[in-house]
This record gives sequence, C-alpha cells and structure tokens, in this order.
Amino acid sequence: MKAKGFTTAILHSDRAGGIEHGSLHKPVHNSITFEHASAADIAAVFQGKQAGFTYGRQINPTVVALEKKLSLMEDGLATCCFATGMAAISATFLALLKAGDHLVSSAFLFGNTNSVFNTFKNFGIEVTFVDATDAQNVEAALQPNTRAVFVETIANPCTQIADLAAIGQLCTARGLLYVVDNTMTSPWNFRPKAVGAHLVINSLSKYICGHGNALGGSVTETGLFDWSRFPNLIEGYKTGAASNWGLTQIKKKGLRDMGATLAPEAAHHIAIGAETLPLRQQRAADNAARLAAWFAAQPAIARVFHPSLASHPQHARARELFRNFGGLMAIELKPEVDCFKFLDALELAVLASNLGDNRTLVIPVAHTIYAEMGPVRRAEMGIADGTVRISVGIEDADDLIADFEQALAKAG
Ligand SMILES: *Cc1c(COP(=O)(O)O)cnc(C)c1O
Repeated sequence: MKAKGFTTAILHSDRAGGIEHGSLHKPVHNSITFEHASAADIAAVFQGKQAGFTYGRQINPTVVALEKKLSLMEDGLATCCFATGMAAISATFLALLKAGDHLVSSAFLFGNTNSVFNTFKNFGIEVTFVDATDAQNVEAALQPNTRAVFVETIANPCTQIADLAAIGQLCTARGLLYVVDNTMTSPWNFRPKAVGAHLVINSLSKYICGHGNALGGSVTETGLFDWSRFPNLIEGYKTGAASNWGLTQIKKKGLRDMGATLAPEAAHHIAIGAETLPLRQQRAADNAARLAAWFAAQPAIARVFHPSLASHPQHARARELFRNFGGLMAIELKPEVDCFKFLDALELAVLASNLGDNRTLVIPVAHTIYAEMGPVRRAEMGIADGTVRISVGIEDADDLIADFEQALAKAG
C-alpha cells in the first residue's frame, strides 16, 4: 500500500499495533513494572533477546506508542522519549560524548541549550559556538576531535535559519554526527532527515503537544549515520544493524541511567495533541505571516523578524526547505516606545514563556529568558532590550491584529 499522508499516519498509528479493547488511542499505562510468564522470558527480555517491557524508567507501552508516532512524523528508524526537550538534548550528548571531544554548535540557541552546552565544558567537552547561518563558519570551526554538529532549524527569538542543507553535506563528507533540533519547525513544517540529519531532537512541549499541558522531549534516529565509525560506543551496544547503535546507547546511558523518563500521562496528552499538529502549526504559521506583514508597516516598530518577509536574510532558504514560515516571530520596538507599557496593554496575547501553544504568547526576551545570558551574548544573538518574542497561536488573525494595534497606540 502507498505510504499514508502525514495526518492519516499519525491518527491511525496506534491502531496499526492493535490497541487493548478496541480503544481508538493507546491508553495510559501507569504500571511501572511488568509481569513475565517464565524465568526464561524475563531473562530474554532483560538481555534484549526478546521484545517486552522491563521497568517503567526504561520502557512503557504508552510511551512506546508515542515513540512510534514520532518516528513516523520524522520518517525515522526509531525514537526515544524523555521528560522534557532539555532532558533529550542533555542525555543525547552526555550519552555520546566524552572528555576530550569537541562539539560545534550554532550560536543562535534556545537559552537553556546554550547554558547546558557551557556546563559540558566543565566535563572536558569543548564547545565552539558559530554563526550557523553559513556552513563555512561550521567548517572553519572543525577540529580533529570534533564529534558532532548541533543546530536548530529556526532560532529563537530572531528567527535565523541555519544553513541546514550545506551543513548536512559537510557532516556527511566528514563523517560527523549531525544533530538537528526541529522544535521550532516541527516535523510537519520540516523533516531534518531531508538535509542529512542523523539525530532529530524535538521538544514535545511545544507544537507537537500544542496545548501547553504536558512536557516532553524526543530524539529520533534517521538511519543515515554509520555508527560503526563513531568512536564512543560501548561494545555491548553494537548489536543488530549499525544504524541503530547510537539510539541504543542513548536509551541505555541517557534514559535508563540518567532517568529523565517521560511520564505515561504526559505521553498520552502529547499523543492526542500530535493528532492535530498539521492543522495547528499551519494555522499558526499563516497567522504569523499576516502579523509580520502588519507589524512591518507600523512606525513604532524598528525591526520585524519572521522568515516570511522578503527582507529576512534567509527568506529564500525558508521557502526552499520549509512547508511554511513558522509560527514564531519577534518584533523590536523603537527605543521611544515603552516596551513594558505595550505588553501590559495587551488584552488577548498572553504574557508567558513557552511557544507553540494554541494561544498567542508574548515575552520581553532580554528581561526574561535571555537575562542570564548577559548583554554581550544577547548582542551577538541580535537581541535588544525592546525585543518582544511572539509565539503566534491559532486565534483569528483579525483579533490578534486588533489587540496589538490598541496596545501600540497606548504605548505611544
Ligand atoms: C523549548 C525548547 C527546548 C526545550 O524543551 P523543554 O521541553 O522545554 O525542555 C529545546 N529546544 C528548543 C528550540 C525549544 O524551543
């Protein structure tokens, strides 16, 4: 049968595995341990010789169903879920890198990713941050001990787009592990596998869940990496096809040993949210493009950051690689506009962190999520004191424009 479309595949993926009692979606399994029929069975399951469930920190039926859905979404081989997106990022690199290794990362990063990469330096892992909108900067930073390259698709908050395809070619040519954080685009808008990514990370807390009611993270193995060339793998994990070895080590070291397990209840919320990912993400992106065009015409606004604008430095790249221009944007208010007064005047847009929620969320980034980073790193990332990030929701666009219009009028 022909491969199913994105939404059909997600909606029906639980049924494909057979669901208890004819349920239409996988139920929440809260049991943390699982009974085995015989001593031989429990031994075979624990030794990985037979499929089955061991202990809830490592594996759970509700989470496995979500992992299958995520593998379908990313067109990957297999997926491992975590309690949060940050857990997925930390566990992936802590499981795969060791002291003396070097990581090249985009400088345009989610704030907590930037923070944890700096923590890695305490453990002897070198990290170089580069402007990844040009693959030449990544190439120039490579060292003999470089093991991996990490980028986000569309960066937060100023929407820089990494040179995704050229970095993929570079990593392929050099045999380097290419890890892409796809949170901002979501697998509906973009599949990093298409540009040669080896591991795809998603914060499930954002567009994939969408309703702001569950935290989660995931790592998907695309099957494109030859793990037999990767030096840090434990011999005992090199069983079966080499394309799976990396995820095996992430599951054993990153999930089982470090223990940031996705709760079954959260997995269920995320799986339900994922059913409507294409509808929600597309609507948010359409709203964002309308808002970006509107803001660009307002005299109180110094700059508008959204890939839909022809003036965006990577507009052509976004058009080429992505299905839409994304639901995240930022505006920089002119210095004479009182940023806090503007935000306090908003009636519909919600003052909150998080992104990819159904509701439109706004946040003054220099004063909040990027406060700890300091003025120097902020300036490098293009963040001014008057920069407001807008995670555009799925409201009616006219209502959003009316809200921003009245707030700008009040802020002078
Ligand atoms: C939110 C986010 C994360 C972290 O995800 P959590 O689920 O909040 O831990 C990582 N990367 C990006 C790009 C994000 O937006």
